[in-house]
Amino acid sequence: MIEFRNVSKTYPNGTKGLNNINLTIEKGEMVVIVGLSGAGKSTLLRSINRLHDITSGDIVVGGKSVTSARSSELRRIRRDIGMIFQSFNLVKRSTVLRNVLSGRVGYHSTLRTILGLFPKEDIELALTALERVNIREKAYSRADELSGGQQQRVSIARALAQEATIILADEPVASLDPLTTRQVMDDLQRINREMQITTIVNLHFIDLAREYATRIIGLRAGEVVFDGTPEEATDEA
Ligand code: ADP
Ligand code: ADP
Repeated sequence: MIEFRNVSKTYPNGTKGLNNINLTIEKGEMVVIVGLSGAGKSTLLRSINRLHDITSGDIVVGGKSVTSARSSELRRIRRDIGMIFQSFNLVKRSTVLRNVLSGRVGYHSTLRTILGLFPKEDIELALTALERVNIREKAYSRADELSGGQQQRVSIARALAQEATIILADEPVASLDPLTTRQVMDDLQRINREMQITTIVNLHFIDLAREYATRIIGLRAGEVVFDGTPEEATDEA
């Protein structure tokens, strides 16, 4: 489903983000990437939907090379990938529903989405997505009226409304308290299991990784230093 072939990424200032990464991630896996700050977790995740270009190697998603994809192809690949960030990335002054509907943008003409005209089916899809993460009753609240954990669930719902088959979550719980962290991780795990959504989550806590991952990948200085089951993961990262 996702393949890294000899992937390296060097930033313009010479910093090595990734150094010769080789990985195959199968459909339905719940991969947690662990490593200290600066290990390359975010660089790895952002490479998958080409938020930045890699320096060498190839990344293949669903049989298609992301590295050499033309823009229309890249748009299609990105449509399958839901991104979740530490900072939620919601439009704060918009309603929860509008934020979730933004996951549908890739399915319609630009004009339609600029005008904010979404068909009824999209609204149904968005409400169903909100129900899956238990915040349907917040659909008409302003995004910034929600707690951090609720906002993160909105961003999960946005990925679901997008009908993503892959979710990439970059430190999704880094700004949340322990209880809320658990709720968000539970949601990600439930969605991974029920909908077979391939999920890659960056975390810096190995304990959380052990609890939720089906597979743990440890990064250090841009290299894979561990790749195995939660049971095999000791204090690697
Ligand atoms: P992590 O997500 O594990 O904290 P990152 O992927 O953010 O690690 O960073 C990997 C390395 O690349 C670090 O040395 C970091 O300082 C560097 N880095 C990340 N982004 C940039 C950038 N835009 N320009 C230069 N160096 C960067
Ligand atoms: P990317 O990490 O993919 O380059 P961005 O370009 O969105 O992501 O990074 C956001 C900003 O933060 C950029 O201006 C980038 O240069 C800067 N940045 C992030 N991490 C670092 C770092 N470790 N060293 C230097 N600049 C960084």
